[in-house]
Amino acid sequence: MKGFVKCEVCKAEIPTDKCVFATHQKVIEGKEHVFCCARCAETFERKKK
Ligand SMILES: [Zn+2]
Repeated sequence: MKGFVKCEVCKAEIPTDKCVFATHQKVIEGKEHVFCCARCAETFERKKK
């Protein structure tokens, strides 16, 4: 899959074909969420709880 995904916290655009390893993907409650970095992933999870 090609294109861009957006970090759900800071809205940074991440090219899916380039930054596979730099992108943090997490499945939370059965949904896949994409973040630009571990810090954004943490922020997102904290907001949920
Ligand atoms: Zn981010």
